[in-house]
Amino acid sequence: MAAIIRRSANFSLKYSNYVRHRVVSSRSMASKVPVGFIGLGNMGNPMAKNLIKHGYPIVVADIFPESCKEVQDLGAQIMDSSADVAERVDRVITMLPSTPNVIEAYTGPNGILKKVKKGSLLIDSSTIDPLVSKEIAKEAEKTGALFMDAPVSGGVGAARAGNLTFMVGGLEGEFNAAKELLSCMGTNVVYCGEVGTGQAAKICNNMLLAISMIGTAETMNLGIRLGLDPKLLAKILNMSSGRCWSSDTYNPVPGVMDGVPSANDYQGGFTTTLMAKDLGLAQNTATNTKTPALLGTLSHQIYRMMCARGYAQKDFSAVFQFLREEENI
Ligand code: NAD
Repeated sequence: MAAIIRRSANFSLKYSNYVRHRVVSSRSMASKVPVGFIGLGNMGNPMAKNLIKHGYPIVVADIFPESCKEVQDLGAQIMDSSADVAERVDRVITMLPSTPNVIEAYTGPNGILKKVKKGSLLIDSSTIDPLVSKEIAKEAEKTGALFMDAPVSGGVGAARAGNLTFMVGGLEGEFNAAKELLSCMGTNVVYCGEVGTGQAAKICNNMLLAISMIGTAETMNLGIRLGLDPKLLAKILNMSSGRCWSSDTYNPVPGVMDGVPSANDYQGGFTTTLMAKDLGLAQNTATNTKTPALLGTLSHQIYRMMCARGYAQKDFSAVFQFLREEENI
């Protein structure tokens, strides 16, 4: 362990010098240094576009190349694999669905670590198991690259608007190098501690989000059954102590708010399957740390059940629709 820490400290020093050199040289160049972006889905697509808006040329890859079409039209260079992206740039951001995808993209036969350049900064913004982030950081270090976890909160709307919150884990001395890029996509970039702590913060946030979304959906449904107009009920909740993000920013009841998935048949946004995945991560960490998480467990079961009943690809706020259907069974 001491050896790993010593190696990390040495690496950190060398890497700081490298970053300082690179920042100085990039400032003196007419255009910005290209950045790699892997995973151009619901979140990655608008995030990559914000990097382009801030003047970064980007080099991208996705296992579904058609996902890259929109950024290609904006000038992005498309590569066949994650390894090919890593070969061409010295900073890579990944935004992938879940733990196995991240393992594949970093350590698979065509993964980033196969061709990564020494001194590269690798930032994973996917939500995954914190223990896997730590393992990938160790593997990256063996190649002379630095890995940080930087999962996000805020959803697709915030990704488009460039006001995501990033929770960053990794070497503190390198936080500013990561922040330079993450600030192009988010307004809050928060250092959490050693690698994996960004994921820890994200998992805690999403457990609370799931619980509050189910609570909001149940409450709204009860109010509607009691004869209240849903818009009026939402207005009252949002000026009272029941207010939360699920009630005032992402209300799950169709017709209450515009521009949210509930206004669009629960399309787009944060899928139920991804929420079930995050709650699974929360369950694992709660089990490993012997932490009671009763409502977290119940929320996990509800979202898993929704996946089994055909809601997997709908936004997680569709729990409102699920409850309405359940009462008719
Ligand atoms: P998504 O499924 O829409 O996009 C993921 C993209 O990664 C897809 O285009 C997919 O083809 C690509 N991909 C998968 N495996 C790959 C691989 N090995 N190599 C290259 N590309 C690969 O997912 P999303 O909604 O953009 O979410 C991404 C991450 O962000 C997830 O971990 C999710 O939990 C987290 N997140 C999502 C939201 C949201 O509102 N959607 C909000 C916060 C955090």
